Amino acid sequence: EAKLQAVYLGKPAMTRAGEPVLTYINVDDPHALPAIDPATCDGVGLTRTEFLFSGEGGLPGEGRQFGAYKALLQWAKGRPVTIRTLDAGGDKPIPGLTPDGELNPFLGLRGLRLSLARPDVFRVQLRALARAAVEGNLKVMLPMVTRPQELEATRALFETVVAELAAEGTAAAMPRLGMMVEVPAAALNIAAFDADFFSIGSNDLVQYVTAAGRDCDSVRDLYDPLEPGVLELIRRVAQHGRLVGREVSLCGDMASDPKYLPALLDTGLRAVSVAPARLARAKAQIAAYG
Ligand code: PEP
Ligand code: MG
Repeated sequence: EAKLQAVYLGKPAMTRAGEPVLTYINVDDPHALPAIDPATCDGVGLTRTEFLFSGEGGLPGEGRQFGAYKALLQWAKGRPVTIRTLDAGGDKPIPGLTPDGELNPFLGLRGLRLSLARPDVFRVQLRALARAAVEGNLKVMLPMVTRPQELEATRALFETVVAELAAEGTAAAMPRLGMMVEVPAAALNIAAFDADFFSIGSNDLVQYVTAAGRDCDSVRDLYDPLEPGVLELIRRVAQHGRLVGREVSLCGDMASDPKYLPALLDTGLRAVSVAPARLARAKAQIAAYG
């Protein structure tokens, strides 16, 4: 591992044929960042903001969120930082916010669905993000998008919030707005989504395509990232991105497991976001590809 790090961590990821592959990191807990040199990656491909919401003391206010987002941007030193809006529900319940008693929370009010149902909570996060957008290279990403209308409703709300901040005399901007591709309906209809960038959430996409839960041991063999239907959807989304010139990355755990990287690169994907501890290994696997 130390040898891998010495050889690969310091340089950009590239296939054997010399094709660059953007290699971002996933951030679940910003406390891990000070130990990571931002120069070892191309930026942050996914920040799970649930860390702000799952602690004691209720929902985080605008100031606390802004401080956390600004710290991430400062750490990255101009590299892009992708911050995902709250993805509560499913495997990430938040007491007092996610609904109790849903028969199947993975198919219920979660992710962007919940944010749109709770504009009082969502607006606070969008205000903090709009303020952070003037502090660095920010990309905002929406989880669990199913229909284009959800993306458009969010963009409209975001623009309203930016206008409000401007009227208050607070520095703010509209960041690039992208979406996770983790619901099969969205993957199949990808050309209908006017997102600035796309990131495939394979953890959820695999479970929704195979109808095998991501945390369900009894059907673990069916929960297969290499299932042909999964790879076909990834291939289509990657191809769409190339066609319209918008970035497509993949930030699910699949990208962090070197055994899946060749299949991912075979789909045409040329951007991944991995767990920081897997960065060197991923770069090594990419270098061996082709
Ligand atoms: C995913 O679904 O692949 C993903 C990256 O998001 P999460 O694991 O937080 O649902
Ligand atoms: Mg997900």
